[in-house]
Amino acid sequence: KQVIFLKTLDIGYPVVGEHIAVQESSIDLNAPIEQDEFILKTLTISIDPFIRNPMKTPSTKKSAAPIAYYSIGSPIYGFTASRVIRSRNTKFNEGDIVTGVTYLEEYTLISPKTNPFASWLTVRNEIKESGFPLSYHLSVMGMPGFTAHAGLFEIGKPKKGETLFVSAASGAVGQLVGQIAKLQGLYTIGSAGTDEKVAYLKEIGFDAAFNYKTTPDIAEKLAELAPQGIDIYFDNVGGEILEAALESANRFARFICCGMISIYNTENQVGIRNVFQIVGKHITMEGFMVQDYGHLEGAFIKEMKQWLNEGKIKYRETIVEGFDQTAQAILDVQYGKNFGKQLVKVADF
Ligand code: NDP
Repeated sequence: KQVIFLKTLDIGYPVVGEHIAVQESSIDLNAPIEQDEFILKTLTISIDPFIRNPMKTPSTKKSAAPIAYYSIGSPIYGFTASRVIRSRNTKFNEGDIVTGVTYLEEYTLISPKTNPFASWLTVRNEIKESGFPLSYHLSVMGMPGFTAHAGLFEIGKPKKGETLFVSAASGAVGQLVGQIAKLQGLYTIGSAGTDEKVAYLKEIGFDAAFNYKTTPDIAEKLAELAPQGIDIYFDNVGGEILEAALESANRFARFICCGMISIYNTENQVGIRNVFQIVGKHITMEGFMVQDYGHLEGAFIKEMKQWLNEGKIKYRETIVEGFDQTAQAILDVQYGKNFGKQLVKVADF
């Protein structure tokens, strides 16, 4: 089976069956394969917010990131962990565990010459002996974990005693941003969309947390929770919360622009209030794509492994079982129905 793209959607929340759908794949697992080709059996899929963005019309909505748009009728793509089941490629051998970006299919044929993501695939056989669940290698020790770490350290440059605010704080990236910042001696504040998520943030050590959906004035709330002001804002959502963070920012604050999920399904934001504060407060706002920091990934995995082993980091995931759940899971993340990192378990490791 595979998740295919059915229809372009610039504004609005996608609907299963109308914009994306799970359908039978035409892949023939017994057909001969060419030199250098190999077939992967998908084991686990990472459901990330960005999966929504390549559904937009390339000509009217300029991609903010170097992503490939989906073509109508073709499978959509995302981060996966897989096992090689057939191979005529010397770098990918039968039985190898592979992580990276693939089309979302139960079985996927990789033709390195034509597959746009082939260079993102890495053999990760050390995972077999790692002692951590396979999902962890796509979540806390994978791309979202690395995003939290790289964004915080490379752009945020956290210093002990400073105050950090992170939005979508209970999610795949956010829950780590707060905990890693706490390990560096920062005062940490998080926002999330349900009271249950807010309670979880306090449980894992955030100093303060609030439900942005039931908070009438977010700027006022931030002023109350951080009278000392905010030195680092890790932005996962954009919009109103970004506006509020600008108001509470201290001089020389760093804004880590990681994502803006509040506009992935709605109109692009037209003018953010409070931008003038960037001038007077000498605020630095910097966007990034995690792959920019690829050279730091090895060191990140080592450090995260140690923190997990020492019990210094806790991590929450929501794992649904069965490939058929993939399309719905993609939408759930856009609506905030996920609690922690959303994944789909397709097959046993
Ligand atoms: P999450 O696990 O945090 O899931 C997304 C969450 O966003 C939802 O659970 C929901 O939580 C929240 N959300 C949805 N709609 C809104 C809205 N309108 N306003 C505020 N919050 C909303 O996702 P990730 O941790 O994987 O990703 C977080 C951000 O980081 C995203 O913007 C993503 O695109 C970005 N990202 C960027 C990368 C990069 O390289 N720059 C790499 C990876 C991720 P709630 O219930 O709290 O509303």
